[in-house]
Amino acid sequence: MPSIEPSLQDSLVSSLIRRVFISAGHIFIRRLEKAADRASEANRETLRKILQRNQNTRFGREHAFAQALASPDLESAYRQQAPVRRYADFEADIERIKRGESNILIADAVTGIAASAGTTGAMKMVPVTAAHLRPAVQFMGMMEGTIAHRHFLGGQPRQKGICLLSYAGKPLETESGLKVGAASGMGIKKMKPMLHHIWVSPPDTYTVEDDATARYLHALYGLRYRQTEYVIATFAPYVLQWIAVMLDWWEELVEDIELGTLSQRLVLPEDTRKRLEAGLTPDPRRAAEVRRAFEAGFEGILPRLWPNLKYIDSVVTGSFAIHQPALNYYAGGVPLYSSFYGMSEVSIGVGLWPDRLGEYMLFLGAAYYEFIQVEDGEFAGDHPDAPPRTVTLEDLESGKYYEVVVTTYAGLYRYRTGDVIKMVGHYKSAPVIQFSHRRGLAMDLVSEKTTEQQVRAAVEGLLPAWLGERAALRDFTTSGDVDSIVPQYVFYLELIGLHHEKAKATLDEAAALIDKALRTSNYLYYRCRKRGVLGAPKVKLVEPGTFDALQSRLVERHPTQNRTQIKIPVNLKAKELVSIMEDRVLAESMHSRLSAAD
Ligand code: AMP
Repeated sequence: MPSIEPSLQDSLVSSLIRRVFISAGHIFIRRLEKAADRASEANRETLRKILQRNQNTRFGREHAFAQALASPDLESAYRQQAPVRRYADFEADIERIKRGESNILIADAVTGIAASAGTTGAMKMVPVTAAHLRPAVQFMGMMEGTIAHRHFLGGQPRQKGICLLSYAGKPLETESGLKVGAASGMGIKKMKPMLHHIWVSPPDTYTVEDDATARYLHALYGLRYRQTEYVIATFAPYVLQWIAVMLDWWEELVEDIELGTLSQRLVLPEDTRKRLEAGLTPDPRRAAEVRRAFEAGFEGILPRLWPNLKYIDSVVTGSFAIHQPALNYYAGGVPLYSSFYGMSEVSIGVGLWPDRLGEYMLFLGAAYYEFIQVEDGEFAGDHPDAPPRTVTLEDLESGKYYEVVVTTYAGLYRYRTGDVIKMVGHYKSAPVIQFSHRRGLAMDLVSEKTTEQQVRAAVEGLLPAWLGERAALRDFTTSGDVDSIVPQYVFYLELIGLHHEKAKATLDEAAALIDKALRTSNYLYYRCRKRGVLGAPKVKLVEPGTFDALQSRLVERHPTQNRTQIKIPVNLKAKELVSIMEDRVLAESMHSRLSAAD
């Protein structure tokens, strides 16, 4: 069992393994760079491989893959044979796969079912195969480290980092025995024997059921390891949740470091507790250092705790940009890096340039990519009678927005991901993209069609204008109040830092700013406000810890989801979830719901 005080031999082995990973990462990156030299061809080759593998499946026969493969224009022939589809169109086939039927969508062995997006939309389940997981595992396990090694570490030997991923939870099983769980969990499980060579926490911590306990343990092992160089997690809110545990429990953490113990508060099976305790030794010197760092306050705490911390890798762009100020508040200048863009269904982008936050090169080879141009907002070209026209890589134009359509190794053919990206340029001949937003409406109380992007932009712009540049939100969500004569939106905000008093006194101002932003970005909203059919939004400030409580409830409601990946919905519909917010309101705006837009 790995101890946190590894022997010299163990350290040498770990250091060697990290070097091997970095070298392997170089090879994969070189391969990607070569693909970037001839992006369209590489994309076509991926399509050819996928169709060849699956031409004798039921879907492959029904859609004449063999004929497309024989055509001189593979892409056009494929497009003619297979229509663009949404998740619902695959559901019946996926059900058959779950029952254990083979050769339905894919010839490869299905190793599990990835469950996803239970909080952002309807639950989706997609088959998982080795070829499907491979790109994400290669990226997160190797390429990410190599890019960081070049960029943040100046090529120096890499130390360990704190990884906040998890593969806890008993996966559900389908009737045929296929495991249903999160794709990221399946990915890290594959790397199990390697984990303690690259990350500070022992393998047992990644399977801990109780989330607060898991976060505490990653903090404890991280804090014991002064040389920690990075923190890695999927999405930014989870990093904030982890920091919240450290701030709430820091005195216990210091004591555990000092004495080489594990707090009795932790919820752990006895055998796991024993194994973990056996690897701990007292470290009073480090405990004193950690105590001094916490006593100096929470702003900029991370580099005080870890003087060698070089970066925090987590998705902080797109819908998660709202979390940047909060992370920066704690990170005190340590750079944020969004290394990967993907979803359970497919890997889409790789962040090759850490200093260009949110820009990704299309992950050539991970899937076959097409795009639907999104014009003038969400709905152009999306008429139910008109099948959307896709364009290929050559046709992408910088500055324009597109929904990503993929053909994957795991049996999704011309699948509309629902993610809209912005094309920002090229690397060699490969598209460089930014995540923009998820397609669809966030809120539509009075048919005013407010998109997630518009809501997020309104809240993102709010804080600097309302409370100043240094204010930061822990998180936000909304709900629709339809019980009153005039329906209105309620915005729930949780702040971090020291702005509570000023915020409480000026909530009307916040409501007016949100209203103004929505009126400017959404003409239909403006019209509804002007006509008085939609009231002015209400802003409610909720107490610290509210979003942790909401997150915990979402984890319980979605047992097949990876808890580190559950996203706070922009709009809460379930009464039970809205009452978690309502029970913790500190203050609310008084702005009249009847006040119309100017
Ligand atoms: P899941 O299927 O639970 O892994 O969630 C995938 C979703 O997370 C995507 O559809 C995106 O909406 C979002 N996402 C993933 N990576 C990024 C990224 N790098 N930037 C912005 N959003 C992302």
